[in-house]
Amino acid sequence: MLSARNLEVVYDDVVLALRGVSLDVPDGRIVALLGANGAGKTSLLRALTGLLDVHEGEITKGSVSLDGEDLRRTAPEAVVRKGVRQVLEGRRVFVELSIEDNLKVGAHTARATMAENLDRVYSLFPVLHDRRALTAGYLSGGEQQMLAMGRAMMSNPRFLLLDEPSLGLAPLMVEAIRDVIVEINGNGTGVLLVEQNASMALSIAHHGYVMETGRVVLDKPAAELLADDDVREFYLGLH
Ligand code: ATP
Repeated sequence: MLSARNLEVVYDDVVLALRGVSLDVPDGRIVALLGANGAGKTSLLRALTGLLDVHEGEITKGSVSLDGEDLRRTAPEAVVRKGVRQVLEGRRVFVELSIEDNLKVGAHTARATMAENLDRVYSLFPVLHDRRALTAGYLSGGEQQMLAMGRAMMSNPRFLLLDEPSLGLAPLMVEAIRDVIVEINGNGTGVLLVEQNASMALSIAHHGYVMETGRVVLDKPAAELLADDDVREFYLGLH
C-alpha cells in the first residue's frame, strides 16, 4: 500500500500547499483524487514520488510510505525502482524521438525484458504500435497522453499515478483513456487518478478523495460520493 499520513508540504519556505493530508492507495485499486485548481493534488503526487525537491517544495510534517517503509528521503529514480511511477501533468514526451524510442527511454529495465515490456505496452495501446516509427511530435494530444502513460507502463509499475490524463481531450479520447486505465488496473496495477473530470474518475474508481485548499474534505467509496446529491453539486460540479 502507498500512503500519506498527516502530510504537510511547503514551497519556498512560505506557501503551505498541504495541511495535514492522509490518503491510501491499496494494491490493485483505483483511487480518485479530486478538487479544484490549487487544492494540492499535484503537490501530493510530488510528495509520493520524491519530486518536491525539483519544485522547491518540502515535506515539513507527516510521512509518505510504501508498505510502511518511509519514502521521504527516497530519490525519484529509487521510487520508480520500487514500482511507483508517475505520469506528469502535460504529457511530456520527447517530440523529436519516435514513439518506440520514447517507450524505450521509459523502460528503466534490463534489455532482456525490453521486448516483453514493449509487447505489453503495445497491447494496451495498439495505436502506438501502428505508429511506432512516427516522430512523437506528430501525435495528437490524446495520443501523446497515451504515449506518456505507455512510457510509464514500460517499467510495469505496481502503482501508477496519473495527473489529469483527460485534460483538454475530446470525449471519445477521454473514453479511450478511461478504458485503458481500467485495463491497466485489471492487470493488477494500483492507480491514483488526479482528475478535474469527476464523473469520469468516479465512474471507474473504487475510492475517492476530495481536496480543498490543502486538506482532504471527503474520503469515501466512489459510489457513495456519486450517490450523494450535495457532494455532487457542491464538490464535484455535477448535477
Ligand atoms: P492544479 O490542478 O492547478 O495543478 P492542484 O490541486 O494540483 O492544482 P497544486 O499544484 O498542488 O494544486 O498547488 C497547491 C498550492 O501550492 C497552490 O497554492 C499552488 O499555487 C502552490 N504551488 C504549487 N507548486 C508550487 C511551486 N513550485 N512553488 C510555489 N507554490 C507552488
